[in-house]
Amino acid sequence: MAEQPWNRGLAFRRCLVSVLTLLGTLTYATADEPQDYRSRNFVVHTDLPKEDAEQLLEKMEVMLKMISRYWGAPLRKPVECYVVVDDSNWPPADLPAQARPIVQSGGITIAQGTRRGNVFNLTATVYASSKFGTAQHEAVHAYCYHTFGVTGPTWYAEGMAEMGNYWKEDDSSVTAPPYVIDFLKRSRSKPLSEITDNNQRTGDGWQNYAWRWALCHFLVNNPNYRDRFRQLGISYLKQGTTSFERAYASQLQELDFEFRLFMQHLGVGLNAESTAWNWKTRPRKPSTKRTMTTKVYAKRGWQATNAQLTQGQQYRFTTDGKWFISSEEEVGVEGNANGEGRLEAVLIENFQLSEPFELGSSGTFTAPGNGQLVLRCRDKWTQLNDNSGSISVKIQAGREVAGRDAAADVGVESR
Ligand SMILES: [Zn+2]
Repeated sequence: MAEQPWNRGLAFRRCLVSVLTLLGTLTYATADEPQDYRSRNFVVHTDLPKEDAEQLLEKMEVMLKMISRYWGAPLRKPVECYVVVDDSNWPPADLPAQARPIVQSGGITIAQGTRRGNVFNLTATVYASSKFGTAQHEAVHAYCYHTFGVTGPTWYAEGMAEMGNYWKEDDSSVTAPPYVIDFLKRSRSKPLSEITDNNQRTGDGWQNYAWRWALCHFLVNNPNYRDRFRQLGISYLKQGTTSFERAYASQLQELDFEFRLFMQHLGVGLNAESTAWNWKTRPRKPSTKRTMTTKVYAKRGWQATNAQLTQGQQYRFTTDGKWFISSEEEVGVEGNANGEGRLEAVLIENFQLSEPFELGSSGTFTAPGNGQLVLRCRDKWTQLNDNSGSISVKIQAGREVAGRDAAADVGVESR
């Protein structure tokens, strides 16, 4: 393989410019004269008040601990950060001219040094606004430059840097700010290929960052995809050749379905695990003689049963148990007065979901379509984390529908 020439000079990422125009100007108390603060892995120069500066260092250390654990590599050397409240507090010599306009509402990480393939010696410096978690975001880029020499393709670098901004210790649920979530909820859905397109440029607007964050958050936390995503990320950072499409080639349809489900229910508190789908349960058609039994957990999202239903066929079901829809509220499978805690169902066929329909504690119902029966405890998707308990559901075919021989269906594998 031909040797690459030594790459000397600058690499940089410029991020999150334009958030301010959306939110308007926020006022921050300022200590005026920039001061220096140090922690184990960061040196921060800032005009933030002392208490805020110390709090920022603490947050950055926690974030660094989490990303180092995630990528399985410690930071190689401390990162220097300039965190700016008001650039008029900064003498001309204290901020590079390139960074000055950017730190008013965004951030930039400038890496200097040498790199040849995987051999590098880079020093990254962060210049960031004190607002919107920009310093944490930029610190993720600086960690990647110091540890791997690169930050990866734009969608990955910026999505993971936003993860660094929102990451909370011991909490893997969604914690992005309301304006990010509102924007994503209002947007038309974006194809995976568009979010992961390699021809994107850094600093192209917070809306694109929001999509990259959403996909990274989903892939970091969904148990069906997270191991492969970690491998893909390490391959990006070690300059391997794996692409997103190649990494998930055998699962793209499933991944697309689950990502759309995640985006549909997106909100603060949503756990990406609750939108993970169980594709392994192979459904069969219940008959009047064969009873299908499934356990349904209150804490989880849609849960596949082993029953494949036929449109127009009547089914009987019974349930056993109670569950909690908060740390205190125990309810039966009928649910409370607001219908929370009630057993509800959908059918899935060819990656399409039917409209949800209610079941309750026992009774009969007619299948509204063909598909695998999927169940859950009805509760706000963003409030499943404090649920507990499970119920057992038994289902069998009811009386035969005219023109259809239910017994003939016994033993038929549907997928
Ligand atoms: Zn960035």
